Amino acid sequence: MDKKLVIYNTLSRKKVIFEPIHAPFVGLYVCGPTVYGDGHLGHARPAITFDILYRYLQHLGYKVRYVRNITDVGHLEHDADEGEDKIAKKARLEQKEPMEVVQYYLNRYHKAMEALNVLPPSIEPHASGHIIEQIEFVKKILDSGYAYESEGSVYFDVEKYNKEHHYGKLSGRNIDELLETTRELDGQNEKRRSVDFALWKKAAPEHIMHWPSPWSEGFPGWHLECSTMGTKYLGEEFDIHGGGMDLIFPHHECEIAQSTAALGKESVRYWMHNNMITINGQKMGKSLGNFITLDEFFTGSHKLLTQAYSPMTIRFFILQAHYRSTVDFSNEALQASEKGLARLSEAYSRLMKLTASAESTVDTAGLRERCEEAMCDDLNTPIVISHLFDAAKAINTVADGNGTISQADLDELKAVFKLFIEDLLGLKTETEAGGSNDAYKGAVDLLLNIRKQTKANKDWATSDQIRNELAALGFNVKDTKDGFEWSL
Ligand code: ZN
Repeated sequence: MDKKLVIYNTLSRKKVIFEPIHAPFVGLYVCGPTVYGDGHLGHARPAITFDILYRYLQHLGYKVRYVRNITDVGHLEHDADEGEDKIAKKARLEQKEPMEVVQYYLNRYHKAMEALNVLPPSIEPHASGHIIEQIEFVKKILDSGYAYESEGSVYFDVEKYNKEHHYGKLSGRNIDELLETTRELDGQNEKRRSVDFALWKKAAPEHIMHWPSPWSEGFPGWHLECSTMGTKYLGEEFDIHGGGMDLIFPHHECEIAQSTAALGKESVRYWMHNNMITINGQKMGKSLGNFITLDEFFTGSHKLLTQAYSPMTIRFFILQAHYRSTVDFSNEALQASEKGLARLSEAYSRLMKLTASAESTVDTAGLRERCEEAMCDDLNTPIVISHLFDAAKAINTVADGNGTISQADLDELKAVFKLFIEDLLGLKTETEAGGSNDAYKGAVDLLLNIRKQTKANKDWATSDQIRNELAALGFNVKDTKDGFEWSL
C-alpha cells in the first residue's frame, strides 16, 4: 500500500487521499438494483465502476468486504413515499408471488453481471431479509426524537433534523427552500411536510408485501434498508458508499440523515458516485422508447440497435469514459469500442507470440508506473487504456519485424498486459477466452499447421485452397518468419 489512491468524495466535493478506517480492511457498500425488470445499460455502469474499485483496492493490498444490496421491497413508484411497490405491481400484473418476481430477475441480473465479468460482491443482502433490523433502526430514530408516528406510519422529521444537522450536505440542495415551498401541506397529509420521508409505511389493504411492526402491519421505507444493512455488515462507521449519481438525492441524503439520527454520527467516510448513461443524448426511459436491456444489447434485438454487442464491448465502452463523466450511447460509439477492443486484443495476442532479441529498439519503459498512476488518480481507466494502446503500437512494430524487444522488456510487457487488461480492467480478450473459444482457436491453428506441412511438401494447391477458403470465411491469414498469424 505504498501507492496512494486518490478518490473524489462527493460529500467534500474534492479529490482526497483514500485512508481506510481500519487498514488493511476496507468496507465498501454499493446500492444494488431493484429487481423488478431486466438490467439495462444504467445498471451496468455502477456495477462495472465499483467492480474496478473493488479489484483495484485488492490489488493495492486491502482486504475488501464488498456489500451490494438487493432492493426487493419498499421501492415505490416515482421513488416517493406514494404509489405501488414496484415489485408488488409486477407480481400483481404477472400473477406471481413477489419473491418469484425477485428471484427471476435476480437470476437474470447475475447472469448479465457474469457476462460483463463483474465480480460477485462479498455479501448481497436483501431488504426483505432485514425487516427486524430495519424496525430496530426506526426505533432508534424515534428514540432520538427525529421521527414521528402518524396513522401507523413513521416519518423522518426533516425540519427538526435540519435545525441541528445539515440536511442537504451531500446533494447541495437548499433545504430552507424545500421547507418554504412545502409549508402548505400542514394538516392536510399524514406527513407534516412533503420533504419528510417514510421510515415505515402502513400497508394499504391491497398492498401484498407487509410485515408486523410496533406501528402497523406495513413495510420499510426505501432509504432505510441501506442505512441498516450497511452498518450491520460494515460497522457503524465504514469507508466507502457508492452508487449512481441519480441516488444522491433523496436516497443517499436520507441515508446520511437516518444514520446521524440513529447512531449520533455519520456512517460513511467517502461517498462515490458514477455519472449516468444517455442514449443519443437523452435520458433512458421506458416512455421514451430508448430503454434497452443488457440482453437486448448482447443479442442485438432492439430497434435502436444495428447489431449485437458483446458483453466485453459494453464493458470496454463504459471503461473508455471516466466514471464521473457522462457516457452517451450510440451505435457508432459502440462500434468504435468494438474495434478498439479488437485492436487491443490482437496486440495482446501478438505479444504472447513475440520472441525476444538481445536488446529493445522499442520503448516500453515505465508502462506499469503510468498505468498505476492513472488508476490511483480516481480510477482513470480511459488514461490506462490509452497507455495500453501506446504499448500496442510498440508490440505491432516488433511483430511486423520493424523492431526488437529484449527478454526483460518482453516479460514485463506480458505481466503488465495481464495485470491491467485481465485482472484490473476485467476484460476477457481472445488470449484469455475459454471453453468453446479455445477449441475453435485450436481448430484454426491445427488447419494452419497442416497448411504449413503442405507448403513444406510443396503441395501449393492444397496450401492455397486452405488459405483462400479461410479468407472466404473472413479469416485474415499472414505468413511470418516463424510460421503464421491469423485473425478474424
Ligand atoms: Zn441504497
